[in-house]
Amino acid sequence: MDYQSTRDPSLRASSAEAVLNGLAPDGGLYTMASLRDIALDWRSVLELDTRGMATEILSALLPSFTKDEMRVLVEKAYEGKFETDELTPTVRVGGDTVLELFRGPTSAFKDVALSMLPRLMTAAREKCGVTDEILILTATSGDTGKAAMEGFCDVPGTKIIVFYPDGGVSAVQKAQMATQAGKNVCVCAVRGNFDDAQTGVKNVFSAVSSGKLLDGKGVRLSSANSINIGRLAPQVVYYFRAYANLVNEGGILPGDKVDFVVPTGNFGDILAGWFAKELGLPVGKLVCASNANNVLTEFLKTGRYDKNRPFYKTVSPSMDILVSSNLERLLYLLSQDAALVARLMGELSRDGVYQIPEELLEKLHGIFWQGFCDDEGTKNAIGMVWREYGYLCDTHTAVAWDVAQQYKAENPEHAPVVILSTASPYKFPAAVLEGLGHSAKGDEFDVMERLHNETGVPVPKNLTGLRERKVRHRDVIDREMMLDYVLEKASQKEWWK
Ligand SMILES: *Cc1c(COP(=O)(O)O)cnc(C)c1O
Repeated sequence: MDYQSTRDPSLRASSAEAVLNGLAPDGGLYTMASLRDIALDWRSVLELDTRGMATEILSALLPSFTKDEMRVLVEKAYEGKFETDELTPTVRVGGDTVLELFRGPTSAFKDVALSMLPRLMTAAREKCGVTDEILILTATSGDTGKAAMEGFCDVPGTKIIVFYPDGGVSAVQKAQMATQAGKNVCVCAVRGNFDDAQTGVKNVFSAVSSGKLLDGKGVRLSSANSINIGRLAPQVVYYFRAYANLVNEGGILPGDKVDFVVPTGNFGDILAGWFAKELGLPVGKLVCASNANNVLTEFLKTGRYDKNRPFYKTVSPSMDILVSSNLERLLYLLSQDAALVARLMGELSRDGVYQIPEELLEKLHGIFWQGFCDDEGTKNAIGMVWREYGYLCDTHTAVAWDVAQQYKAENPEHAPVVILSTASPYKFPAAVLEGLGHSAKGDEFDVMERLHNETGVPVPKNLTGLRERKVRHRDVIDREMMLDYVLEKASQKEWWK
């Protein structure tokens, strides 16, 4: 029983149960009591290839699985799926290093974790003696849904339904989802916005569990979003990969500090960086980069979390978020005080605001730096990086780039800087083309082509020919129908012949 709820240490679970359940029964997140006791020789991990790193790190963080079991899961998860063997390569751009996390099957960083999660989940299902089929429900604003479907596609013992807001995703994202192959996948547009879809999914979960609607049907629901520890843990690996690359290129000696700048939404990516630090990796500052939805910038500065503010739709939509769920794990691990976390999270859901104690804020200041960048700054950064260094970055990466420059200017003693790059520029072609100083009017696929003609940067394989690919998913429903939709799908043995 290595895991417990962030809100109540008496609610315990094995790491396999934590992966299978996703969320603790009291609404808290599953966490280890501390990461300090985990035995991992970080220096020897640096010698390994990326899959070897993943095997060591994941079996340390998820001790229900032996190292040999984990090795097999890692191989299956990543086999032939990424553009490079090292999965997440680094590139020198100007004086900094960019860590490219978007070389996977859907061109977003979520592929790193969502390739692994289905393997962990099916192995956890076996370990826990669960014979029910697992039905994953996910609401998406664009990136998560596609990456989750690609990860769960034809994984035995699982099915997945993705809900996205009708008219609320980009043309590229919609085409990515609507053309998804696989016998066990289903995509459905919901009339409403992303919050409607997300609330709808939460309502389905609670209706099914309180009404025992699926009991005895051989199906149980689970979730693929980033509150699941099985999605967080695989992200720790690429911090080690980047650090090892810097050592191998002679930029640093083992033991030297490295600063990481992370474009942040739900706080999963950057929390994985802190996990790496707790596991011994010499991480300097973790720089939290936000867009105009800068709730985290203010929080890390002042200790006051306040979600009562305008919500902006930005050109970096995967970071348009006002409640960063994974912060809860950090608050618990730093304070070791579940009662405090339960109180703060209660205040957040009741009033939308909480203030952390001074000594906790001091700890945060020792670990993080913070900054934000609006849409204009984002586009300027894209243009600047392209003109100066011939490197084309997406909008989320550009936010991190801009904040990295702020950080270096204000902290002249900084360590070597690694900027995490979370998406291919071709996933957000209009804003990127505008960043290069061109108009991006018209059909998004034409814009993608114009961006390619302008820069010569290759379009990722999964995005070329997307327009011609066969549409398999056309369902559109009202949000009131989501429960009926799920129950009907759950009762069908086969979705596709
Ligand atoms: C999800 C996402 C992020 C934010 O990551 P978090 O773990 O939610 O902080 C940043 N960039 C892209 C492209 C994403 O898809």
